[in-house]
Amino acid sequence: MATPITDPIVGIDLGTTNSLVAFVRDGVPEILSSREGRTLLPSVITFSDEGVPVVGYAAKGRKVRDASHTVFSMKRLLGRGFEDLKTAAQGLPYKLLPGEGIVKIEIAGRTYTPIDLSAMILKELKLGAEKALGTPVRRAVLTVPAYFNDSQRQATRAAGRLAGLDVLRIVNEPTAASLAYGLDRKRQGLIAVYDLGGGTFDISILKLHDGIFEVLATHGDTALGGDDLDFAIAKFVAEQLRARDGRDAFASPELHAELLEAAEALKIAFSEREEAILEIASAGYRTTFTRAQFEQLARPVLERTRQPCLRALQDAGLKPSDLSDVVLVGGPTRLAVVQRMAAEIFGRTPNTSVHPDEVVAAGAAIQADILAGNNKDFLLLDVVPLSLGIETYGGLMSALIPRNTRIPTVAREVFTTFADKQTGVDIHVLQGERERVEDNRSLARFKLGGIPPQPAGIPRVEVIFLIDADGILQVSAKELKTGREQTIEVRPSYGLTDTEVEKMLSASAVNAEADVEFRKIVEARNDAEPVLRATEKSLKQAYRLLPKDEADEVQRRYEALQQAMSGKDGAKVREACYALNRATAKLADLIMKEAVAQTVEPR
Ligand code: ADP
Ligand code: MG
Repeated sequence: MATPITDPIVGIDLGTTNSLVAFVRDGVPEILSSREGRTLLPSVITFSDEGVPVVGYAAKGRKVRDASHTVFSMKRLLGRGFEDLKTAAQGLPYKLLPGEGIVKIEIAGRTYTPIDLSAMILKELKLGAEKALGTPVRRAVLTVPAYFNDSQRQATRAAGRLAGLDVLRIVNEPTAASLAYGLDRKRQGLIAVYDLGGGTFDISILKLHDGIFEVLATHGDTALGGDDLDFAIAKFVAEQLRARDGRDAFASPELHAELLEAAEALKIAFSEREEAILEIASAGYRTTFTRAQFEQLARPVLERTRQPCLRALQDAGLKPSDLSDVVLVGGPTRLAVVQRMAAEIFGRTPNTSVHPDEVVAAGAAIQADILAGNNKDFLLLDVVPLSLGIETYGGLMSALIPRNTRIPTVAREVFTTFADKQTGVDIHVLQGERERVEDNRSLARFKLGGIPPQPAGIPRVEVIFLIDADGILQVSAKELKTGREQTIEVRPSYGLTDTEVEKMLSASAVNAEADVEFRKIVEARNDAEPVLRATEKSLKQAYRLLPKDEADEVQRRYEALQQAMSGKDGAKVREACYALNRATAKLADLIMKEAVAQTVEPR
């Protein structure tokens, strides 16, 4: 019997490609369905001209077809400044503007920060979770990649708040995955987490000891993932189409989109089958692929995961045989060819018992369950991902908290002045592993004034770094003679202040009804576009193969659907699409028969 749930804490995997929300019910993590009734929520948003967002599969279908209204991969931009973006933004088709500290994305005539957009995804997950659990959801544990710096973590937290979630904890994705595999029960070990997602590859080496997952090393490729497998297939098919029709399939956004969708479906089929058909109806293309053919296309892409893995092992000072476990994460690792690749690199069979695209969310939910006090056996502690310190004389960084220190933690150190009669000191807070200030990231600056004038080296200024359980740093400086003190919560250069978040919160009260209406039209257009395109191609044949009145009917229905598509009524699009489908049924049949006849008797 299900027990009623009150004030649940959910676990969320906010992914570059897909996001998920999970909840531990009676000790078992469960992925909660989205409002679309699916487990995954594509991290894609499409906007109406009025700025109404729709998130999920409906939006994913618009990625290529309606690029000017659709955004994706926002996670790459989260917590970064405009200057910081040179590489992160590579290959993103939308327009980026320098904001005040934060980069802005211009889409369909409006601008949004990556925090706004991530919040829209989180809000959609929250709504899905509320529907699935039948109760309001206000608290969550979020995951981030192990290499995320303080800005990126804070931006993730701000997105959570903006979505109306109290973010209780931010957990590293590989740590969450290890938790979901129950590796924490082993008490110790060295774990490689091989995470191949949609567009990113991350390898993390973790050391488990005394209930802590310490990140020993991370490496990866920010432009490598399942999308590249789709692209390899699409390119192969496009070459065949070019040889046949002499035209570039990628030149039309519609055909391009269909090609990528068909390629992704083929790839996914190979996680279960030996043979699968790739069909692009509107181009009249249909071919059977074998798994061996697919693997031949996939292999060079996957080969690119090898170097980062070897480097991560090297950084951690380990050999493959030192590892106690290799854990696979990410949708593409459902493919045998990916599993073999990982096995080859690490010389052992990897763990695949948990669904690799759900494992991070499941781990976040387990952490949430621990925080909720339901799972008293485990105490998971997080660590500081990068060293924190302050600038000292000569432009050098002095670390107060070394990386991988368990949190919460506190560190203090006493500094002095370097000039006579100096009455103030500048505290420059830094993050990073390098010696020189300019090679590290500047997190904040503040000034402690009112120091009584004394000779250099006499005043004693105590600097305290305090990191709470969420990894948020608070820095204070105190002049010990006068007791004068200055404290700041470190808001990194690319983050948001609480007031800014509050302001954004009140501005983002979205119109739920407009949301539902727009979703309908988006879904209807997604379904209708391939029909429209296929008809467009066969219109000429209609007048050859059908009696004139029937061909006229097809033409009329085709125009009616075109017209409905330019309107804003989803139901009208559905009706028109249905009518066109009916009108073309006979034509499709005739065209197919003709094509078969031609293959049997080649010209
Ligand atoms: P991310 O962590 O980047 O948000 P995911 O781990 O969800 O993304 O991975 C998304 C990728 O996984 C996509 O390229 C998708 O096509 C691929 N994928 C999903 N399911 C399968 C499957 N069964 N077999 C192969 N690839 C899959
Ligand atoms: Mg992921």
